[in-house]
Amino acid sequence: MNTTADLLQIACPHCNAINRVPSARLAQAPSCGRCHQALFTATPIALNATAFDAHANRSQLPLLVDFWASWCGPCRQMAPEFAKAAGQLEPRLRLGKLDTEAEPAIATRYGIRSIPTMVMILGGREIARQSGAMPASSIVQWAAAQLPR
Ligand code: ZN
Repeated sequence: MNTTADLLQIACPHCNAINRVPSARLAQAPSCGRCHQALFTATPIALNATAFDAHANRSQLPLLVDFWASWCGPCRQMAPEFAKAAGQLEPRLRLGKLDTEAEPAIATRYGIRSIPTMVMILGGREIARQSGAMPASSIVQWAAAQLPR
């Protein structure tokens, strides 16, 4: 039996440390080896540049990013829906929010032209995107359909 093949690198939402977690243990409330806090909190992470790098580029869990801004009405409407979706989509993927005014370089790198836009990223590469506000049920349905299998 190959015991290393099903180890997933998961970035901690609190300290950004990379943890190696057996995929079978993902749903068993794993905690971070460095800061000892829960690796999954059913809450989208507020992504700054450091956290974005950890979760988008170094984690092996798909990351769903909500690109938003505080002045955007539809973004504010979607915020509680996106938060609700986090509880249903973890631990299959990580959800994060990227404030396009606080981190314009990342928004530019991903060519974000309208907000809200959701981008799913795995290993630094975009695998799907969807623009416009959606209710939690649609976010969950859309995201689950995009997951690599
Ligand atoms: Zn941690």
